[in-house]
Amino acid sequence: MVRANGVVAMSVKTRIVAGLAHCDVAVIGAGPYGLSAGVHLRAKGMAVRVFGEPMEFWAHKMPEGMLLRSPRVASSLSDPDRAFTLESYEAASRKEPCAPLPLDTFVEYGRWFRHQLGSDLDQRAVVRVDRDQPGFRLTLQDGEEVHATYVVVATGIGPFKKKPAVFQNLSPQQAIHCYEVRNVRQYVGKRVAVIGGGQSALESAALLHEASAQVEVIVRESHLRWIGQHSWLHHMGPISSMLYSSHDVGPVGISRLVAYPKLVSYVPLKLRDKIRKRAVRPAGARWLPERLSAVKITAGHTVSQATAFGDEVALTLDDGSERRVDHIVLGTGYRVDISRYDFLPQELTQDIKQFDGYPRLGSGFRSSVSGLHFIGATAARSFGPLLYFVAGTEFASRELVSHLPKTR
Ligand SMILES: Cc1cc2nc3c(=O)[nH]c(=O)nc-3n(C[C@H](O)[C@H](O)[C@H](O)COP(=O)(O)OP(=O)(O)OC[C@H]3O[C@@H](n4cnc5c(N)ncnc54)[C@H](O)[C@@H]3O)c2cc1C
Repeated sequence: MVRANGVVAMSVKTRIVAGLAHCDVAVIGAGPYGLSAGVHLRAKGMAVRVFGEPMEFWAHKMPEGMLLRSPRVASSLSDPDRAFTLESYEAASRKEPCAPLPLDTFVEYGRWFRHQLGSDLDQRAVVRVDRDQPGFRLTLQDGEEVHATYVVVATGIGPFKKKPAVFQNLSPQQAIHCYEVRNVRQYVGKRVAVIGGGQSALESAALLHEASAQVEVIVRESHLRWIGQHSWLHHMGPISSMLYSSHDVGPVGISRLVAYPKLVSYVPLKLRDKIRKRAVRPAGARWLPERLSAVKITAGHTVSQATAFGDEVALTLDDGSERRVDHIVLGTGYRVDISRYDFLPQELTQDIKQFDGYPRLGSGFRSSVSGLHFIGATAARSFGPLLYFVAGTEFASRELVSHLPKTR
């Protein structure tokens, strides 16, 4: 059944259990992870429903004009036959392959990919998940309830934005996270301080500068780092393949280990955390330095005070120097904390064993609540940093599917 507004309301495979529409697996989130997992589960013959607007985070939260940092080979979603890769999309839509990949192309690719799910995609958001033995009861945004034997949480990092304490008193317009700076043109002529030295901060700075904002980047580290600084190491044929995986997550050696999330999951937690942090430490893509050459970079300093004066913000840095700006763009990353997923009630999250906000996951991404699974960034503490990236969709989907038994 498809409603007039385009919302798919009920899959052909849906059956009724205890008065509710039932599916074997409910996947919450239709980003790269949820879409890939849904396609794999469907191919296994399971009755699956994927909830959410396809590619919403990429289409509405990331800055217009952004380029993907991940290489093309690490930017395909996953399907069992590898028939719906980025290249297949480009061939089907007669698009010239290009690198780095523009955001719009990636969003269009994801929306093309999602058609494999047909009526198993339901664009409504899930507002609550409750246990309903056996399985779960999901409440959707319009109040409809659905029953599922398994729930896979694939809702990304949207709610996990970090706003350092020093900026807490500023309004959302004055201190805005860089995931929310969708339209850089609204900052034309404005004085903007960008905080952070990672890809999101540096790319936002470049885009703001190109949109004629007056930008200064303030970064705690003593210097900016760039990904692929030792580019010759990537051009040594078979030797390079031994040093780096094609996903290109992490430095020499670590990159190879990270490509095997199952292996990473056996590494003791302390070492696993070190590997994870090293693999994703703040750095900008190699195509950014040139675009930032005219942008003021203040490295080795932090903001110790930020005070609003009407529409202006006065910043004091740890060296005592001062700035007056109109806006602060926070490229200060995110902190995974599943209790911030508002669709998971406390009764449920308190039973999920965690490592400081990340669920502790076993084989098949299962959490300590039977039938509840997590994929994507929330799985990175268990399976390593590949799960922060699109490249992890292949492992995640196959691992998940191989551990979910068919329920009928
Ligand atoms: C600025 C920026 C640049 C990045 N660049 C890259 C890159 O170049 N390459 C790369 O591999 N990774 C990149 N990443 C990381 C990227 O976020 C992940 O790779 C990717 O989005 C993970 O996919 P996902 O499906 O887990 O999450 P998302 O893409 O965030 O998808 C989760 C979806 O769940 C939906 N959702 C949330 N709550 C609900 C609900 N209650 N009901 C229904 N739906 C819900 C959201 O709308 C969202 O669309 C970047 C991240 C940022 C912030």
